[in-house]
Amino acid sequence: MTPKTRAIVPVHYAGVACAMDAIMDLARKRGVFVIEDAAQAVNSRYRDRFLGTIGDIGAYSFHETKNFISGEGGAIVINNERFIERAEIIREKGTNRSKFFRGETDKYTWVDIGSSYLPSEIIAAFLYAQLENIYLITQRRREIFEYYADALVPLSERGLLRIPGPVVGGRTNYHLFSVVLEDEGTRNALMDHLKRRGVLAVFHYVPLHTSPMGLSMGYREGQLPVTESISGRLLRLPFYYELTREDQDIVIDGIREFFG
Ligand SMILES: *Cc1c(COP(=O)(O)O)cnc(C)c1O
Repeated sequence: MTPKTRAIVPVHYAGVACAMDAIMDLARKRGVFVIEDAAQAVNSRYRDRFLGTIGDIGAYSFHETKNFISGEGGAIVINNERFIERAEIIREKGTNRSKFFRGETDKYTWVDIGSSYLPSEIIAAFLYAQLENIYLITQRRREIFEYYADALVPLSERGLLRIPGPVVGGRTNYHLFSVVLEDEGTRNALMDHLKRRGVLAVFHYVPLHTSPMGLSMGYREGQLPVTESISGRLLRLPFYYELTREDQDIVIDGIREFFG
């Protein structure tokens, strides 16, 4: 943090909570806002609170890769009253149309910047059906997660790969299952091995600070050594609601075969 820091943006990776008590304490002490990137964390908890509802603002994603989807789309959770009115305006193309609909003004007009962030009724209905089944979907994802974890414990005990540890002091939504390999070469070799067996396992984007944009803002490789190390060694296993035991077995057998 520098004197110019205005906000902290914790990312609840894989639906697992950041250390929110420490982050909120620090933010309050320094007088900065907290904006939770809870894109992957819909229905996850930190202690007894839902992720995305702890900071000043939280952002959820309903992108097709997430647990609850509308193709593209998301939601913002506003926990600080001073941001509510402006958020309504920004999502309504920079107009005070929400106020107009509530009868708080006799016509609506353009008052700020904005764009068209409104989901259609059809998209909302598609998403709503999943939210009605939020516990069922989460339960199924939990089974998929635990099946991978149980099967990979022996390889993890032999030190060949790392699997996600238990979540303490909260609850995950089982957004994804990733393994961390010894080094980048091993990760890429395992990925190729699985691909030859028809299994698509992928890693993530490059770390932001080493992206062209990050570099243009003055960041340099080497500044976040843990991020850089993990991003080269991490592999995500196929993970979606309809994934069957049989298909999971193909993934697991492929990994076992790779390690002999
Ligand atoms: C998916 C994701 C986003 C982006 O969400 P969109 O709905 O595509 O805007 C942002 N942050 C994280 C951590 C994500 O996983």
